[in-house]
Order: sequence, then structure tokens, then C-alpha cells
Amino acid sequence: MAALQFDVLCGRRPGLTRDLPPGKEDLQWVVNTATLIYDDTDAVLVDTFTSVDQNQELVDWVRGHGRNLKFIYITHGHGDHFFGVKQLKEAFPGARAIATPAAARQAAHEGSPEYLASFWDKAFPGRIPKPPVAPEPLDGDHFEMNGHTFEVIETGYTDTHDTSALWVPDLRLVVTGDVAYNGIHQYMAETTTESRREWMRATDKLAALDPAVVIAGHKIPDNPDDPKILAETKQYLADFNRLDAATDTVAELYEAMLQLYPDRANPGSLWGGAKKAKS
Ligand SMILES: [Zn+2]
Repeated sequence: MAALQFDVLCGRRPGLTRDLPPGKEDLQWVVNTATLIYDDTDAVLVDTFTSVDQNQELVDWVRGHGRNLKFIYITHGHGDHFFGVKQLKEAFPGARAIATPAAARQAAHEGSPEYLASFWDKAFPGRIPKPPVAPEPLDGDHFEMNGHTFEVIETGYTDTHDTSALWVPDLRLVVTGDVAYNGIHQYMAETTTESRREWMRATDKLAALDPAVVIAGHKIPDNPDDPKILAETKQYLADFNRLDAATDTVAELYEAMLQLYPDRANPGSLWGGAKKAKS
């Protein structure tokens, strides 16, 4: 059985929340990751990108690896992670796009004309692949490629509901989707104090796997895929809950978090989370 290798592509795009206070213009971007795990013949891709252009780059990058793409695993139902399924499947007709049943349902919802019009088309007019193709529900908690096992780890409510990570025991590698962030402000506009505690427990669940490599769904491209990002993600959530309780206004919470995390990219995400927390 040929050994597995992996490679990560980073795709940079504008953040979704753009009405933040001035002062952090140089950090107003976010990066999604796509991870290719492959042996000498075949490959599994984990997550895709947002726009038609970004996903064309992803297709070209996968093609450049010269493997047969067998699976596209989608970690959760957010559009910026699954909108590339359409182009990937057109380029690699033999590939099966899969997700947990709940994540597949959420993806179908995010890709509906109503949701696109109310959210994604406003942020990226004319750039979302249409019509989006949702992943199909995976039956069971793992899949295999040439004798290598890929385990689905259900992580519950993290930055949205019904999220998951993909654990590759051969490589002691976990692709976290949005359970872990690496140098990027976390998306908290769908969270509550209590759901952020659930998210913290999800980081513990992945840390308990004792991974050697942890690939976040959003990262600063030059940052290493270090397992410490699980603890960092958890600390950020603990800090947010503590400072939310200690502040009264959106601006106070935002500034208090920025004092602790001045260098993370995509401060608009923090602004959106602070607005939700104080609403
Ligand atoms: Zn995400």
C-alpha cells in the first residue's frame, strides 16, 4: 500500500463583514484552505473555495498533482467551503462529493436561490458558481481509499451547526474545517455564549486525537499547521465569553478583543461576532 502525502492550497478573498470601524484595513481579508491527501494514484480533497475564479485555481492545482480525484469531503455546510463542488465534479466526473447528512442538508439550504440572494450574492455579486452543487450524504463515519481510512469526526456546533473534521490516522493529520482557526478572527455571528462552550469542547475532542498536523479551514498562509492552534482557538472563545460579560457595547467588546489579538486577519469577523453578542 503506497504511503499517503498531503498538500494545502490557500485561497484569499475579502471578508464577509465589511462595516467595521476603521484602523485594520491591512488585515481585512480571509483565507480558506483546501487540502489534498493522496497516494501514488488517487486523491481525496477536503473542502473547496468560494468564487468561480478561486475554484478554477483549485481545479488546476488538483489537476497538477496528477492523481485521480476520488472524494471531495466537505466539513460543514457553509458556502465558502462547498461552492467549488460543481466545478470540481465537472473537472473530475469520477469524484464523489460527500458530507455528513446534516452538513449536506445545510449546504443544500445555503445553495438555494433564496439564500444566495439574501447572503452570498450580496457579498460576491456574480462570482458564486451557479447553481451550487451540494455534497451527498455519507452513510457511516468513515470512507476508504486504497486501504487508507478517513474518519469523520462529528464536532457539533462550532462556528455553525453540524460541523465535522476529517481525521487521517496514517498521517496523524486532522483537517478541522472551522473547528480550528489559525491566525484569523473566528466567525462568531452564528454563535451564543453557550454554543461557544460547545465549540471549546470540540477543540478538546480533536486535541484528544493527539494529531501531528492540524489544518484549519481558515489560516494565515505562512503559519505552520501546528496542533497548538486547537488550544489557541479555544482560548480565543474563552476570552470572547469573558470579555463579552465584562463589556456593555459592541465597540467595547471589539476593542477589548483586538487588544488581545491585534494581528489576526479578518477583524470584520470579530466585529460581526461582537454585534451578534450585544444584539
Ligand atoms: Zn469557514
